[in-house]
Amino acid sequence: MIRFEDLVARAQTYMPEADIELLRRAYVFSAMAHQGQVRQSGQPYLVHPLEVAHLLADMKLDPAAIIAGLLHDVVEDTLTTVERIEELFGREVAHLVEGVTKISVIPFSSSEERQAENFRKILLAMVDDIRVVLVKLADRLHNMRTLGAMPEERRQRTARETLDIYAPIANRLGMSRLKNELEDLAFRHLEPEAYEALKARVERRRKATEGLLDEMRRSMAATLKEAQIPVIEIDGRSKRLYSIHQKLRRQQIDLEQVYDFLAIRVITDTIKDCYAALGIVHHSWPPVPGRIKDFIATPRPNGYQSLHTSVMTTKGVAVEVQIRTQEMHRLAEEGIASHWKYKEGRVGAANDERYFQWLRQTLEWQQEVRDPQEFIQNLKVDLYPDEVYTFTPKGQVKSLPRDSTVIDFAYSIHSDVGHQCVGARINGKMMPLRTRLRNGDVVEIVTSAKHRPSRDWLNFVVTTRARNRIRAFLHAEEKARAIEIGRKLLEKAGRRFAVNLKALLEGPGLDPIAPEWGVPNGLDLLAAVGYGRVGARQVLARASPDGELKEKRESAVRSAVKKVIGLGSGDSIRVSGADDVLVVRARCCNPIHGERIVGYITRGKGVSVHAASCPNVTSLLYDPERRIDVEWTKSAQPGQYTVRLGIQVQDRKGMVAAVSAAIASVNTNIVDIEARTDDEQRGWIRVTIEISDMKHLEKVMKSLRGIPGVVAVERARAVPLDLSRAPQGPATGTR
Ligand code: MN
Repeated sequence: MIRFEDLVARAQTYMPEADIELLRRAYVFSAMAHQGQVRQSGQPYLVHPLEVAHLLADMKLDPAAIIAGLLHDVVEDTLTTVERIEELFGREVAHLVEGVTKISVIPFSSSEERQAENFRKILLAMVDDIRVVLVKLADRLHNMRTLGAMPEERRQRTARETLDIYAPIANRLGMSRLKNELEDLAFRHLEPEAYEALKARVERRRKATEGLLDEMRRSMAATLKEAQIPVIEIDGRSKRLYSIHQKLRRQQIDLEQVYDFLAIRVITDTIKDCYAALGIVHHSWPPVPGRIKDFIATPRPNGYQSLHTSVMTTKGVAVEVQIRTQEMHRLAEEGIASHWKYKEGRVGAANDERYFQWLRQTLEWQQEVRDPQEFIQNLKVDLYPDEVYTFTPKGQVKSLPRDSTVIDFAYSIHSDVGHQCVGARINGKMMPLRTRLRNGDVVEIVTSAKHRPSRDWLNFVVTTRARNRIRAFLHAEEKARAIEIGRKLLEKAGRRFAVNLKALLEGPGLDPIAPEWGVPNGLDLLAAVGYGRVGARQVLARASPDGELKEKRESAVRSAVKKVIGLGSGDSIRVSGADDVLVVRARCCNPIHGERIVGYITRGKGVSVHAASCPNVTSLLYDPERRIDVEWTKSAQPGQYTVRLGIQVQDRKGMVAAVSAAIASVNTNIVDIEARTDDEQRGWIRVTIEISDMKHLEKVMKSLRGIPGVVAVERARAVPLDLSRAPQGPATGTR
């Protein structure tokens, strides 16, 4: 537990000549006023004002603010009057205590009107004297740290209020350290299960990446030192829990896809050094495109300045790098409090125009705006930077998560508007669907009755609502097609086995037997056949009057089915739980016997089988329901697969001959071979061979790697279908 002496020691570190006696008088006064009161935790009440004063001393505030911290609750919670405080401690302290007391008595309610009122009062107090809010924030921080002792209902209320009001204000004032702690504490109390689960996951990931981050930090320090850039401090950290939580929810991504999970902070000397350091970093590690942000040239509204970039480590994990000067760093951590610091006997001067301009402007229009709803909407633009506020042509406000697109906006109006959206006029100008909206945009959605959502939209929408509606639409559309195809497959099979499907479906239909395949009704069973989950023949056998099928014409089997689908059936791949399902090897990755594979149920083309390592798989499997287990069955045919290999060799004579000989030595047929040399004197040989299975391929590759002069041997895969569609995240190297 903290003692008064600790507070004195803390204060004396930055204001050695401070009037300790006055501080002691305030402490004693507070002790007497709160005598007999205890905190919910059972501790004497005095602990609280003492902690608050200590937090204010941590911000290096002046004596008046620290004394106000010691006395901040006496007017509210004891019989002491403001006049008495003025008498004993002077006008300044009394004014601060009065300000804090006024804020404290605002009853909180989640309704917009109440919230607007709360903000209004806090803003007024801030303009009056910013220290009032600093005392209040310190008060809230200590209360949040000790919230566990409170009853459940009170905990929820305080945590919600902290998240809605105090954390945004701390953020607007640039006090990121305090804001982060408030948010994490509030998150822990509001959603304890989500908090604990995320904490455990983050901890696991942090542990797994600890060494990497440390190694990266050291190597970056060495690189910058070598480039003679002064590095005052360099440290690595992982992102705060609450901001991860928000990010996962907002972008619907997985922890592994959070780009700035790991960050390295480089504190250097001058702005020039910052840019120089950025250049060195990019020279040494490949930057992730689109992740460079220059907050030095364009600071955030709360004054935050820094350079941000993300680079790839050798392990294929992205690390965010933040580069800033010491001054910027202090401002980033402490925000406005750093301007209120007590300096050389002078009471802190609030000389930073940035904050006060904002405060003044806010107050100016708050006097003009009578409607609390409008007030809060305007204020939110400032206080919640994670949201964008946009307008319909009729002036209705639509608040959307940051990075929302035209599509998100369209779905926020109505599902049909979303489905038929072809573009938008933003501020009168025609813009494409992917356009990210900005604060204040007036958005008029353009629709076309014939238009339908595309799967591609899922790659850039941000809101859960849009994502769900698009998925639902695609599901419905695909299901309709699957039903149609399922019916055709059954008809074909029916003709072959002389079963009258029409009569069958008009009779009892498939409803009674559907549950045997785990689906609720006949239509779903048809869809299952169409998707390729269930074999047409099995359904037909079960549904036909005598319960078994008699084949009409022997050899027509495969061709009949093939004709419908237009594809050859899978050679030696088995889909789990079904034996006459259509299977086709994906052309992009060309999996071969023995390789790890996954199946993907296509729209009516049966199951397409990809190599587990195929980069297309992750982008296709956005819908886990369409994933299906597949396995290799029959042994492979000799030389069944053609595979292309890329071989990097030293540029010397006889390499092609050596490669051909090595391939021939393992009894392998070469279909094609070509060689070239690039500008950097590296030789490349591309060879196409016929192999039987994975084992065979490995044998060939091993024998190639054994040739002196061979640098690398790789299996060539077709490039992803559409690179722009590849999932976000560290796609290189991790899969
Ligand atoms: Mn208090």
